[in-house]
Amino acid sequence: MTPQAHPANPQAGAAVKAADRAHVFHSWSAQELIDPLAVAGAQGSYFWDYDGKRYLDFSSGLVFTNIGYQHPKVVAAIQEQAATLATFAPAFAVEARSEAARLIAERTPGDLDSIFFTNGGAEAVENATRMARLHTGRPKVLSAYRSYHGATAAAINLTGDPRRWASDSGAAGVVRFWAPFLYRSPFHSGTEAQECERALQHLDDTIAFEGPQTVAAVILETIPGTAGIMTPPPGYLAGVREICDRYGIVMVLDEVMAGFGRTGTWFAADLFGVTPDLMTFAKGVNSGYVPLGGVAISGEIAETFARRPYPGGLTYSGHPLACAAAVATIGVMEEEDVVGQAARLGENVLGPGLRALAERHPSVGEVRGTGAFWALELVKDRETREPLVPYNASGEANAPMAAFGAAAKARGLWPFINMNRTHVVPPCNITEAEAKEGLAALDEALSVADQHVSG
Ligand code: PLP
Repeated sequence: MTPQAHPANPQAGAAVKAADRAHVFHSWSAQELIDPLAVAGAQGSYFWDYDGKRYLDFSSGLVFTNIGYQHPKVVAAIQEQAATLATFAPAFAVEARSEAARLIAERTPGDLDSIFFTNGGAEAVENATRMARLHTGRPKVLSAYRSYHGATAAAINLTGDPRRWASDSGAAGVVRFWAPFLYRSPFHSGTEAQECERALQHLDDTIAFEGPQTVAAVILETIPGTAGIMTPPPGYLAGVREICDRYGIVMVLDEVMAGFGRTGTWFAADLFGVTPDLMTFAKGVNSGYVPLGGVAISGEIAETFARRPYPGGLTYSGHPLACAAAVATIGVMEEEDVVGQAARLGENVLGPGLRALAERHPSVGEVRGTGAFWALELVKDRETREPLVPYNASGEANAPMAAFGAAAKARGLWPFINMNRTHVVPPCNITEAEAKEGLAALDEALSVADQHVSG
C-alpha cells in the first residue's frame, strides 16, 4: 500500500525547523552548515515533509528500519509495554527482556546464547571488546581500516574510517589491518581467491608481528556496511576463524548493520557458516523503534563471567520498551518472512536492477551486495577506478556526489551516500513496485553523476 502524503503544513514545519536550528546539536556536523529536513511523518518505506513532499527511503534511516516505518504490530507492542511496565532496572528479570533475549539467542549462530543488552551499536562494541580483553587477559584488539564500529571511545578508535581521526587517541591496544576488497585490493590481487589468501596471510603476519599472546580479539563487520558493503571472498571468514582459534584470540563479528535480515539471512554470518565468539547487534533488532543493541556471547566466554562479576553495565540495559519492540519485530519478521523477502529482493529486483543501471551509466564502477544491502561504487573512470570524489572529500571536492544526492532527492528518492558510493539499503520488506520506483529515480540521478565521468 502506498501511503498518502501528509497534508502540507509549512508553518508547522517552519516551527519544527526553527527550534531544531536553535537548540538541537546534530551528529557529525558543522552546526551552521546544515539544513535538516523537517519530517512530518513516515509509513512503510516512505516518509514525508511538511510541504507534503514524499520520499522513498533507500537508506532505511541509518540502515535500521528493516521492517519499515510504523509497523502497526510493533507500535502496538510498544504501547502495550508502556501501559504495563514502561521501565524497570536491569538487575531484575522482566518478561519483555527475557523474551527478547530468548528470541535473539535462538536465532544467533552456534552457542551465542547469552545476551548482554545495550542501547545501541557502539556500546555493544565497547562491551564486546571489554569481554574479550577480560576473557583472554590480553590488551590488543585488531580491526579493519575499512570499517565503522561506532562513536564512543573504544568504538571510534576501532573504527577505520575518517570519522575516527578527530578522536583517535592512538589508543593503546588498537591495531588495524586490511580486510579483503578486491575492487580496491590492498594486496594487488586479480581474483577473489588471491585476495582471500593474501588477506589471510596479511592478518596472520600482523598477529605474528604484534605477538599473538598480546592480541585479545579480531573485530570485523561480517559484511562491512558504511565502509562499502564488501562481501568477503569465500573462505575469508572461515580463515579468520581458524587463525583466531590457532592463537586463542576472540573472534568478534559486528552485525550492527548487517544483522537481522539485511543480507537475506538472519545474520550475515549465516552466509558463511562461521560462528564468532561474540557478535554485536543493534539497528534491525527492533527496526530502531526504540534504541537497543547488544552482544551475543558464546558459552565459553559466558563461563568466564559465571563466578566472576562482569565489570560493565548500563542503566537502561534491556529496557522493557526496547525489548518489547524487539519481541514484536522478530515476530513480524517471522510472520511476514521478512528475511526471505530481503533475499528475494536482492536476487530478483535489486541485483538485476542495479546491474542494468551499471550497464547504462559509465559512472557506476561496481555493483555489489546481497539481500537489501547493496553499494554502487561511483567512479570518474571505469578503467582506472578513480573514485568520483576523492577519499573523505568535502566542500567543492565533493560536489559531484552532492549533485547526485540532490538529483535523487528532487526525484523523491532518499539515498544513502558515503564518499563516492551510494548504498541501496531500503527496508527489507519494501515491495517490488516500490523498489522499482526507487531504481527508476536512481537511474535519472545517475545521469547527473555521469556528467562527472572523465574516462
Ligand atoms: N557497528 C556498525 C557495523 C555500525 O554500522 C554502526 C552504526 O552505523 C555501529 C557499530 C554503531 O552503532 P550506533 O550508532 O548504534 O552506536
